[in-house]
Amino acid sequence: MTTTGPSMDVSAVSKRTILISGASIAGPALAYWLHRYGFAVTVVEKAGAPRGGGYPIDVRGTAIEVVRRMGILPRLRHAHIDSRRFTFLDADGGEVASIHPRAVAGSIEGQDLEVGRGDLTAALYTTVRDDVEFLFDDSIDTLDQSERGVDVAFRSGNRRTFDLVVGADGMHSRTREILFGPEEQFHRYLGYRFAVFTMPNTFRLSRELVMWNTPGKAAALYATGGEDDDLHAFLNFHQPEPPFDALRNPDAQRDLVATIFADAGWEVPGIVNAMREADDLFYDTAGQIRMPSWSSGRVALVGDAAYAPSFLTGQGTSLALVGAYMLADALATNRDHTGAFAAYERKTREFVAMNQALVDNGEAALFPTTARALEQRNTKLRDLVAMPPTTTRSAHSALTLPELAPMSRPQPDHRPGPT
Ligand SMILES: Cc1cc2nc3c(=O)[nH]c(=O)nc-3n(C[C@H](O)[C@H](O)[C@H](O)COP(=O)(O)OP(=O)(O)OC[C@H]3O[C@@H](n4cnc5c(N)ncnc54)[C@H](O)[C@@H]3O)c2cc1C
Repeated sequence: MTTTGPSMDVSAVSKRTILISGASIAGPALAYWLHRYGFAVTVVEKAGAPRGGGYPIDVRGTAIEVVRRMGILPRLRHAHIDSRRFTFLDADGGEVASIHPRAVAGSIEGQDLEVGRGDLTAALYTTVRDDVEFLFDDSIDTLDQSERGVDVAFRSGNRRTFDLVVGADGMHSRTREILFGPEEQFHRYLGYRFAVFTMPNTFRLSRELVMWNTPGKAAALYATGGEDDDLHAFLNFHQPEPPFDALRNPDAQRDLVATIFADAGWEVPGIVNAMREADDLFYDTAGQIRMPSWSSGRVALVGDAAYAPSFLTGQGTSLALVGAYMLADALATNRDHTGAFAAYERKTREFVAMNQALVDNGEAALFPTTARALEQRNTKLRDLVAMPPTTTRSAHSALTLPELAPMSRPQPDHRPGPT
């Protein structure tokens, strides 16, 4: 276990203590704001260190204001990918359309950001690591709530008590499972599974994306750097059945992807071979988490754990950043956790719903499942070449952040009452 933490402060005994599970996007962002508001924060992460890797992510709209207030906007602007073009190919590798990325992503040029996922997690982690206790290589085993607090048993065997616990442990959240039961009841499967990994840039692509499609299948190569940098490869395919078993078995994931793409043209066989060699494969579903409530007693959820919108919206990271800000604000401005968790939901739910609804408004159109739908998409793409859209999606900016709460030191939340 790696433990880093703040030096002991006698006043710490009067701080509210909070345990956050997950050190990716939502977890460290929440830790930053809660530390600022006077909480004693511990973050537990099952990996041995903050996990880099993954496909580049978007930070847009309201989430830009969150990273600006955290002071990391200049660093992220520096890491901005700034792609030159997206090129779409047909089954044989012939060009369908080559267009400016902004026309597809719906981002505002000069304001919204696209950065490597690892660049964002590193920026968030370095911003909080000296102020917050991190427990790597560990995770929550059991949670036992009482009016005194939450007794936590860790997988390592350690036991501690916190005033509050937050699950920021992603779409397949263990905290959610402990609290509310199996994922299946909250998972809205959107019909796609995907694999992302890095591979050598034998194609000499530079700051561009190339995407091949047939009905129900897509293979994309994304060069976020120059011709000498590795590529992000992405294989996406339509499967009507939810995949809960395959998610737990990396060999089964690789075999399934290889079978699905066995007869694919263009350079897809080489991409599938590269997947077999990759040591950073990330495999998941296009799915959403939709829950009637984001908290139970002294435990709340944030980010993908509570309201994953799916990669089809490109808004998972932005929702995680905004949700973390709103939860911290609610805890800083409400005297007890019950009121705080209610305020967090009341003020954030509509924003979440608008962004999750993007999938129902044609966001999956990049991955048509029939020949007819693919032809319609291609026609739309050719139209975009002639006339790029001038407006962006209002859902991205649909929430105005509350002003920063005073840097108070909240009183312990130890009043007897229902958990
Ligand atoms: C390595 C990695 C690669 C990714 N790549 C992509 C991608 O290519 N495309 C895409 O659409 N999305 C990807 N994601 C998901 C994306 O980061 C999220 O959708 C989004 O940023 C919301 O972030 P989050 O912090 O809520 O959840 P996540 O980013 O999923 O983070 C959850 C964190 O919790 C940790 N964790 C999980 N279970 C436990 C546990 N029981 N105890 C302690 N810690 C736990 C995880 O290791 C992770 O650090 C990736 C996530 C990870 C972790």
